[in-house]
Amino acid sequence: MTQEELFKKLVAHCKEYGFIFPSSEIYDGLGAVYDYGQNGVELKNNIKSYWWDSMVKLHENIVGIDAAIFMHPRTWEASGHVGAFNDPLIDNKDSKKRYRADVLVEDWMAKQDEKIQKEVEKARKRFGEQFDEAQYLATSPRVADIVSKRDAVHKRFADALNDNNLDELKQIILDCEIVCPISGTRNWTDVRQFNLMFSTQMGSTADGASTIYLRPETAQGIFVNYLNVQKTGRMKLPFGIAQIGKAFRNEIVARQFIFRMREFEQMEMQFFVQPGEEMKWWNEWKNTRMAWHRALGFGDENYRFHDHDKLAHYANAATDVEYNFPFGFKEVEGIHSRTDFDLGRHQEFSGKKIQYFDPERGESYVPYVVETSIGVDRMFLQIMSAAYTEEKLENGEERVVLRIPAPLAPTKVAVMPLVKKDGLPEVAREIIDMLRFDFNVTYDEKDSIGKRYRRQDAVGTPFCVTVDHQTLEDRTVTVRHRDSMEQERVAIDELYRLVDSKVAMRHLLAKVKA
Ligand code: ATP
Repeated sequence: MTQEELFKKLVAHCKEYGFIFPSSEIYDGLGAVYDYGQNGVELKNNIKSYWWDSMVKLHENIVGIDAAIFMHPRTWEASGHVGAFNDPLIDNKDSKKRYRADVLVEDWMAKQDEKIQKEVEKARKRFGEQFDEAQYLATSPRVADIVSKRDAVHKRFADALNDNNLDELKQIILDCEIVCPISGTRNWTDVRQFNLMFSTQMGSTADGASTIYLRPETAQGIFVNYLNVQKTGRMKLPFGIAQIGKAFRNEIVARQFIFRMREFEQMEMQFFVQPGEEMKWWNEWKNTRMAWHRALGFGDENYRFHDHDKLAHYANAATDVEYNFPFGFKEVEGIHSRTDFDLGRHQEFSGKKIQYFDPERGESYVPYVVETSIGVDRMFLQIMSAAYTEEKLENGEERVVLRIPAPLAPTKVAVMPLVKKDGLPEVAREIIDMLRFDFNVTYDEKDSIGKRYRRQDAVGTPFCVTVDHQTLEDRTVTVRHRDSMEQERVAIDELYRLVDSKVAMRHLLAKVKA
């Protein structure tokens, strides 16, 4: 199965099992907007808890807030979004399809890396056991040729982005002979800038309605509350403010399911530090955030850092955490050193002094900021891509199983009476009543046990508990484990401890803290 087919199956699975639906589907949906279903909302909430707890519970000096989506319009002038929150767009004149010019070039560069990988695989087959990959990469003229072309384009691309040179961006697309995937032609328009913010009116037009924006990032809600939190919480540098909330971007090209949406959710943490200490903290947060990702157990090799080619107007260092999605390594999270840009600009635009009095240094200054910014939805897609597995079983049957880390699984335990009679459903309900205060549990009595197992595998439930006639005699049940499919006999009194030992969030958090 190709990665593309796998991705298609994943999207279909998300819908079939109540994880994600297209928004307003009965009206044929709305571009790049999605709704979360009964299982999706549980997974999403668990992702948010994992992040929130890792920030607020694990750090004495991080507190949370929940700011409004609407903000004073001046906020977005100060932050630079009104002037500079643009993406470069380009249209293909034949297909009339619109693309992000930077993404076209990035995809071209990724293809060069794939080409190199293919050369390596070919050589490996040719040379067999003696193959030395490092030596091959260093000496193969074919590889050298691809690398030098890619590096030359990379340099031109980074320069074009940094100089805001849209003509050069178009020239790179032409020189790389990039074609529109739909029309197959190179008939491109010029590259233009496109502002990504959605705007609306506040107040009635009669009393002079003003244009306000739907926030394109949650960070500004934190910056404008810096003083409020610092004073009321009597916070001392370094300290952080965390927030989870919706953000909106009128993305030019919405593709790849929930990877790029027009309405999405962010989890952001702004960490305020002394000027001059930002690089130390930036490195520290890179490590902490990578540990958070790796604790999920999807394989360290599937994550990497990717430093930005173009620093945003506010940043002096920036890197992305990328995950190996079925469509290649892509950004899940950004870790940015934002200097004193935001607080400094709000100070200038609001006329209010936004500073910190440092008792040790005996002076006041505008703190520097290191931020970690991750999309809930992108994280959701990351987990689903990693968890979705098709397996052939020993008896020839196939199963689809979502290997979601147990603390994030939508449902923790499915309790099933073997038959719908003889008092078995009553015992099953008793077990549910014992577990439901701490865990998400479900009851299922329909179809054969095998079918019920398959249904739970498909939504990632870590434990199935079957109540049978022996239960009535000795108060034991069969516990079946999702990943290994192993079964064991467990006393009802032991169930709570067993479930807790796998599904409690503290197990994941302990790995982050380690
Ligand atoms: P991209 O380069 O993919 O457009 P970005 O660098 O603009 O992303 P940031 O502004 O750094 O993204 O946002 C931080 C995080 O928010 C991203 O790492 C991503 O997880 C999430 N995010 C940003 N835009 C979207 C979107 N349109 N849909 C879903 N998640 C998003």
